[in-house]
Amino acid sequence: MPDLLSRRRALLGPNVSTFYDDPIHVVRGEGVWLWDEEGNKYLDCYNNVPHVGHCNPRVVSAICAQAGVLNTHTRYLHEGILDYVERLTSTFADPLGTAILTCTGSEANDIALRMAEAMTGKRGIVATDATYHGNTTLVSHLSKSNVPEVGFGLGKYLRHVEAPDSYRIADPDGRHFAARVQEAIDDLEASGIGFAALIVCPLFLNEGFPAQAEGWLRPAAEAVRRAGGLLICDEVQSGFGRCGSHFWAHQKQGVVPDVVTLGKPMGNGHPVAGLVTTPEIMARFRSSFRYFNTFGGNPVSCAAAMAVLEELEEKNLQANAARIGKLAAERLTELAGKYEVIGDVRQSGMVFGAEFVLDRDTKEPASAYTDRVVNAMRHRGIILSKLGRHKNMLKIRPPMPFAEEHLHLLIDTLDSVLAEMPARA
Ligand code: PMP
Repeated sequence: MPDLLSRRRALLGPNVSTFYDDPIHVVRGEGVWLWDEEGNKYLDCYNNVPHVGHCNPRVVSAICAQAGVLNTHTRYLHEGILDYVERLTSTFADPLGTAILTCTGSEANDIALRMAEAMTGKRGIVATDATYHGNTTLVSHLSKSNVPEVGFGLGKYLRHVEAPDSYRIADPDGRHFAARVQEAIDDLEASGIGFAALIVCPLFLNEGFPAQAEGWLRPAAEAVRRAGGLLICDEVQSGFGRCGSHFWAHQKQGVVPDVVTLGKPMGNGHPVAGLVTTPEIMARFRSSFRYFNTFGGNPVSCAAAMAVLEELEEKNLQANAARIGKLAAERLTELAGKYEVIGDVRQSGMVFGAEFVLDRDTKEPASAYTDRVVNAMRHRGIILSKLGRHKNMLKIRPPMPFAEEHLHLLIDTLDSVLAEMPARA
């Protein structure tokens, strides 16, 4: 292991992120399981990229079959991208009927922001203050933490609004959030820059997936529309049935965005991402920017992405996400009855977790404790992580075929870790 770590540092540079104090060297995956080089088995409760399961046979054979026939850049005519976009857009409400395919979610968000500029003639962007939208020069500046110190930056063009937090900020109908968005819009307009777009993950997943009633985002969407801007929903993490109740999280939020960006789970690990938008926005973008993507939407990528959609439908994985999520919330709530350190339990389909606090009254985040729990779980063969503004929320976001037996193993293991680990030790 030290050898691999030092080779990584030498070959890939310093500060390349790894998980855990004692990183895992994984060599194989199948379904919801991973194996390390010593043959140890881990239950994967974290990875949303292998959406329909690690090495899903349908996706593997679709990739292999297409790679054996043709793979090339995207300037030739090919029905693969058309068949895929037809099927993909059939899951969206009108008028979201056109798409651009890319290789990463970052590219998709970058294009979405350019679409907003093309449509509005303005550049002001509003984003939440605890999220992540990717790594291009433009979108890397949307993050409040780890903002690049070099580069052109967004500077005066960006306004952050406080991310929703159902545990600490009372906002049952989204009006408080909408008021903050309105202030940011007004500020951009007053500054002369003007407002172009609000970009949010509709589950606010990186922020800790707060509990929100259906339609919660509607007031903010109305503020955006009144101001003539675009609503960009970044569904890189929240999409493809993960929230259980809907195929797309923006549908749960009761809004029809102008642009929806996609990524991570789209090709089950094959690098395919993209965005879906309206014909009007697409036409404006295409006439404002010359855009070509060598690899985005190539025949192999589309075969992988199509196999993911087929697998989701055939195995009823959205319904599985709804059922397992509900059960997960019940079992985590049982643990909250046993352990004071659990301040809140939240779930949205196949994304669930518990927020750890040192004191339930003050809600003081138990961030270091959460880190210890995550590392202890890793040593017991359970892979999960942490997120949120205070990094005190367990991030449990398994592949969609995660079943009841896996959930019980996860919760029973968490129970034994919490029993051995007092919060104020
Ligand atoms: N948006 C969100 C919400 C993400 O979580 C990520 C990746 N973590 C991205 C965009 C960027 O995607 P990619 O790494 O494929 O560029």
